[in-house]
Amino acid sequence: MVRRKGYIFVLSTTLILCFIIMIFTAVSQSSVMINTTESKKNSVIVIDCGHGGEDPGAIGVNNVYESDVNLSFGLKFNDILKLNGYDTVLTRNDKNDIADKSLDTIAKRKKSDMYKRLDIYNSSLKNVAISIHQNIFPAKSCSGTQVFYSKQNPLSKVLADNITTSVVSNLQNDNERISKESNGIFLLDNAKVPAIIVECGFLSNENETYLLCDKEYQKKFSYCLFQGLMNSNL
Ligand SMILES: [Zn+2]
Repeated sequence: MVRRKGYIFVLSTTLILCFIIMIFTAVSQSSVMINTTESKKNSVIVIDCGHGGEDPGAIGVNNVYESDVNLSFGLKFNDILKLNGYDTVLTRNDKNDIADKSLDTIAKRKKSDMYKRLDIYNSSLKNVAISIHQNIFPAKSCSGTQVFYSKQNPLSKVLADNITTSVVSNLQNDNERISKESNGIFLLDNAKVPAIIVECGFLSNENETYLLCDKEYQKKFSYCLFQGLMNSNL
């Protein structure tokens, strides 16, 4: 009986120890998980994939919709930012726009969509807004990235210049465009935080449209956006 009691004591002590070790392991693992997903940056990157829903944006060669291409770029850029510890906000993460659907005309819905995006840009002074679009032009030979920046915040130009430099040096050695100050672009003219629009390329150019729809090119381009952001210390 004494031996049996001793056996039970040893067994129960062992079980309790195992239980404590399991709990400790679970707690330490969860704290590691929290640390890896915790934001390491001060800025929150607002990724604004232009157009969406009933607004396809530009329609390029082979009927490519700008809204779809913008979303593909934005989601890839978001993946890179999350992997590198940034907090992000997407104005949309699917094909839909964010317009007030109860409004009775397309013009009113479009206006509400733009104001909602602006509200997201200005929702925190930690935000840095990067809007993703594609270009189109009657001259089919036009190609290359063009970045516009808001004049409301001096960091916008820094970011636009660094992204242009990164894209040109990594992907478009013959692109001679420089970033341009916004004049009449609603979101940039009314943003209170650093804000830029990146026109990644021209959907009116057949060769560039092929690249803009290519997942690997979208990834490489997104790394250029990321490099430009890093070089701006944002
Ligand atoms: Zn657009």
